[in-house]
Amino acid sequence: MEIIRTIAWMKEYARAARAEGLVIGLVPTMGALHEGHTALVARARKECSRVIASVFVNPKQFGPKEDYKKYPRDLERDAKTLGDAGVDALFVPETSDVYPDGFRTYVNVEGISERLEGRSRPGHFRGVSTVVLKLLEIVQPHFAYFGRKDAQQVRIISEMVRDLNVDAQIVVCPVVREADGLALSSRNAYLSAEERKAATVLHKALVEAREELNAGVRDAMQLQAAMRKIIEAEPLAALDYAEIVGADTFEPVVRVAKPCYAVLAVFIGKTRLIDNLLIEPTSTGSEDLVFHL
Ligand code: AMP
Repeated sequence: MEIIRTIAWMKEYARAARAEGLVIGLVPTMGALHEGHTALVARARKECSRVIASVFVNPKQFGPKEDYKKYPRDLERDAKTLGDAGVDALFVPETSDVYPDGFRTYVNVEGISERLEGRSRPGHFRGVSTVVLKLLEIVQPHFAYFGRKDAQQVRIISEMVRDLNVDAQIVVCPVVREADGLALSSRNAYLSAEERKAATVLHKALVEAREELNAGVRDAMQLQAAMRKIIEAEPLAALDYAEIVGADTFEPVVRVAKPCYAVLAVFIGKTRLIDNLLIEPTSTGSEDLVFHL
């Protein structure tokens, strides 16, 4: 696996791959890799002849009081993980190369970026959209792979790509979970043993919502209340939000009748975790639902 440390070199490498007629897949990450990330690589490996992963902890998507400084970083381990997963090239740019002095151009997908994660983390999605657009410009991949774990993020990226006519197809991959249901996340490393047990409460709340839906409940308030009750029963958990939103706009819905997400953000101690359940009618207008947890 080639390790590429500058934007100029990355552009040259990608240009050469395109000239050879290779199909390029990009997997953007912030490192501290786990099986959620390697699942994205595995999907890219299946669909592309040249797989490029990036590791960049993007300062622009962290708030001033967030964990930018202490975000886990272990490039040596990440490089081994990605090499073993079959990545061809790893892009690890310097922050000063991505954001040189005088940098002042940002992308913001309006509306959806201000809701839920955007409301709790002002400026977060502006940072995400900006860095992802830069990565898509630098690499110009045919396909770019993202996890549904960050459902609002991948929706925003898809809108940006459509609005700005970016020639990359965004591929959304399923959530990878631990055996007890906890969604894999680099931030799980912050949890103490006790908090790690408590963290399963997010998955439990989503399973509860699914059970209510299976029992015929369609009222969003009732589903939200059911999730809230599970979270509130866990002493180490503090709810940020539990909502039922439309899968396209992330605006709240009154009733589940079209594709929706049940979305959760919960503090376990000082660690903020998110998770979601995708709810879809089996066919348009149908009362039967399929779930993606
Ligand atoms: P991050 O390194 O946290 O910025 O995540 C990089 C990519 O991996 C994003 O597209 C995430 O949605 C995806 N990802 C993170 N955790 C998971 C997971 N448990 N399952 C699937 N994808 C994930």
